[in-house]
Amino acid sequence: MHPGRMVRGLLFRHSMSRLTNALAAQHRRVIELLDEAQENAKKKTLHSLADHIVGHMVAEEEIVYPVAATPAWTRVQALEEHAILRYALDRLLVANPSHLSFDARVRMLRELLLHHCDREERARLPQFEKAIGARRSRLLATRVEERYAEVVAQGYARHRKGLRDEE
Ligand SMILES: [Zn+2]
Repeated sequence: MHPGRMVRGLLFRHSMSRLTNALAAQHRRVIELLDEAQENAKKKTLHSLADHIVGHMVAEEEIVYPVAATPAWTRVQALEEHAILRYALDRLLVANPSHLSFDARVRMLRELLLHHCDREERARLPQFEKAIGARRSRLLATRVEERYAEVVAQGYARHRKGLRDEE
């Protein structure tokens, strides 16, 4: 391939996936915090992990899923996954770090999170980006980043409950 074309291709891909990049950065941050919590189960680390997981989910639930380009079944499926993630997170937050169940709950949460990241980054978001186009992707990325930062700063406790259940 001609080098010029390749560069243009990469730039095009980059601007087409601004939203995916923003969400993938949040995914990486959450997994990092989970690693930290697993190594050192301090309350502070666990609460920070909770702030970031909940911040990420709230941003997706409020800003990404309501966009009309999201097929209804994808939205419903994603909300179910978030509900299970919240449950697994709550179980971890009340676990005793010196007990075996703490490790089991970290592992469970990790499996669910990895599944979430993989599914979104490889299947849902690329499809979604195609449907909304580069300009909207940029706008949504900015809103997603702002909402995430806001919820993280407020703390997970204020956002414990997910969106109301859909039928
Ligand atoms: Zn996500």
